[in-house]
Amino acid sequence: MPEGDTVHKLAAALAPLWVGQAPVRVELKTGDGAQLCGRRIRSVAALGKHLFVEFDHGLQLRTHLGLYGSWHRYALDEVWRKPKRLASAVLEIGGAVYICFNAKACEIIRTDGVRERALRTRLSLDLVALDIDLSAIPRRARDFVEADAVISDVLLDQRIACGIGNVYKSEVLFLHQVHPLAPLEALSDAQLLQLYRTAAVLLRRNLAPGPRVTRFENDAAGRLWVYRRSGLHCFRCGAVIQYRRCGKDWRSTYWCPGCQPAPPGIDSPQPVAAEPTP
Ligand SMILES: [Zn+2]
Repeated sequence: MPEGDTVHKLAAALAPLWVGQAPVRVELKTGDGAQLCGRRIRSVAALGKHLFVEFDHGLQLRTHLGLYGSWHRYALDEVWRKPKRLASAVLEIGGAVYICFNAKACEIIRTDGVRERALRTRLSLDLVALDIDLSAIPRRARDFVEADAVISDVLLDQRIACGIGNVYKSEVLFLHQVHPLAPLEALSDAQLLQLYRTAAVLLRRNLAPGPRVTRFENDAAGRLWVYRRSGLHCFRCGAVIQYRRCGKDWRSTYWCPGCQPAPPGIDSPQPVAAEPTP
């Protein structure tokens, strides 16, 4: 699952190449790409994990990468690394071909139409944005999910706030010493706010090009505290980092049993030997 900063970085990379240009070819899996062909691109922007490409005639292309989506860029005569049948969108712009493979969502919507307004209302709390008020987050969390939902699911729920994916989920829980299976009801509003504040800070610190970093220590030991470190020792307490798939979608989760003790009534599960891809 791309983190929120991935899509913001993507928008920042595409905007200078696309804005002011008009694609000479637009093919969408939905079959309606011709509507965008030859129209000038006004803006390229990320909102949460959605990428919005706005055209000059009141329409925009919205894509969401979901768990498996990605954008590729090729020269006109270059062979694609994925099969054409997986292409959700193909745009030829400025002598290059841009392909969105395996999108979870790819559609044309009207700028400021009902659909866009509904999406933007739902995604109003983008943790990467600078001007958001995080104070509403605890209320939103308790409104949107059940009290016994595990915190590792709560953080991934993009209705509450968007931007947190699997990496930041594990890292933020470690930094605040919260076990991934702690139920929402066990956390105070102040604790929830801390988790989201830290996620927002980390997401924004990672908008620049380069690898994702949550551990800013001045050594070469590692960029991340727990993510993809199962079987290795915790940088803080020396315990062995654990891994399991958990939550309602069995998402990859990493934690330190020393720094993040299991809440009462929950046995800390044993790690599994192999880490599958997230
Ligand atoms: Zn530890």
